[in-house]
Amino acid sequence: MSARPVEQKVTLQDLKRAIDNKEFELHYQPKVSMVTGEITGAEALIRWRKNDGTLVPPMDFIPLAEESDFIREITRYVFGRLVVDCAVISAVNSSLAVSFNASGKDFHDEKLTEIIVEAVNSRLIDAAKLEIEVTETVLVDEGCARKCLDQLAEIGIPIAMDDFGTGHSGLVELSKWPFSILKIDQKFIRGLNESAKDREILQASIRMAHQLNMDVVAEGIEDEETYRVLQEYGCRTGQGYWISKPLPFLEFILFLKQYKNLPAMPIGLLYMAQLDHIQWRKTLIDTALFLHGSGENRELKNLRGSPELQHTACKLGLWYYDAGRVFSDVESYRQLEQPHMELHAIGKDLLQAARDHCSMTELAALIQQLSEKSLQVLEVLQALENSLHVDQYSVPEPLAE
Ligand code: C2E
Ligand code: MG
Ligand code: MG
Repeated sequence: MSARPVEQKVTLQDLKRAIDNKEFELHYQPKVSMVTGEITGAEALIRWRKNDGTLVPPMDFIPLAEESDFIREITRYVFGRLVVDCAVISAVNSSLAVSFNASGKDFHDEKLTEIIVEAVNSRLIDAAKLEIEVTETVLVDEGCARKCLDQLAEIGIPIAMDDFGTGHSGLVELSKWPFSILKIDQKFIRGLNESAKDREILQASIRMAHQLNMDVVAEGIEDEETYRVLQEYGCRTGQGYWISKPLPFLEFILFLKQYKNLPAMPIGLLYMAQLDHIQWRKTLIDTALFLHGSGENRELKNLRGSPELQHTACKLGLWYYDAGRVFSDVESYRQLEQPHMELHAIGKDLLQAARDHCSMTELAALIQQLSEKSLQVLEVLQALENSLHVDQYSVPEPLAE
């Protein structure tokens, strides 16, 4: 048996030469909406095509580049390439958003940020069609990185926390940064079928991100079962070999043209609507008890975290009158509006009575009325779920109150 050729160690000099010779290229991996089944975006991933034709994966050279400042040059190269490619991508599908990966070092000064802002200002690229993926390394530099990411988010570029769950940061800490997307690391996705712990981490992360108004992207989806389970957990966006491997640019364009929508199922959103409702009810009762116990006659608007009283503006209401409309042909969907409106009327009465320091008996009676109406709302939501024949899939654990 002939010996394998000894791998030549990559040096910085090789990378510099590769940039000069334009040997780096971008492959694009599609991202799909698990709610509608449509392609919503793609991640640009770098590859090094050596002049002998071999393709070097990023993990064989990005870590070396990240040890030095050379990564900054690579990122600028990637961004320049991406802007050019995006002109074609948006001509094929104008609603796609394309993400690229940046390193912590890219935000040690404002250079990259200036280049991106300039590209957006001069309309080379639309801010909403761009996304930047960063890993936890960016959090180390509180000063400059913070300023850059704030500025990029302010001009409308969504910032994603990549590989979430591999580092030390929790969601609460991340919520203080301008991240609007959470990309859950592949190891949790791949552990879904074997590890109950991974399933729990995943579900908890999806719920919390939802509460923080962050979109969740699951990467590393390698089979249909994983896709289905994530849909039921309420994860909105998916990426993985089962949908498509990263593709060279022209193949990606062809993929977009030939793509047939994947299974869509807003069941996860229904599950989130149930969670939102339970959270709303808890906040409302907590607020009533606080107002009742407080000596002063507090105005609701001066209370932090007070519940939304308009039935069209609470999270369940927002869902009902927007994404939930996909169920408008279903009887139980139509049955939801009335009890939900009544529930909000009871909620208003309860808070008013609490502010007026009503008797304990009156307060308890109103809380009971609220709970009964809330159960009715949850029953209708459950009926809606049942009517979608979800029993063929494994359903998430029962909701904890
Ligand atoms: P990442 O940003 O987390 O990218 C996702 C990686 O997972 C990609 O590997 C992708 O090909 C792979 N992947 C996606 N779906 C699946 C799946 O279903 N199964 C498996 N086994 N893998 C899947 P890739 O392209 O080798 O990139 C690896 C990492 O290199 C990236 O991880 C990112 O951290 C880094 N990278 C890639 N391109 C760039 C770049 O342009 N700049 C920087 N700074 N880093 C980059
Ligand atoms: Mg990434
Ligand atoms: Mg990742």
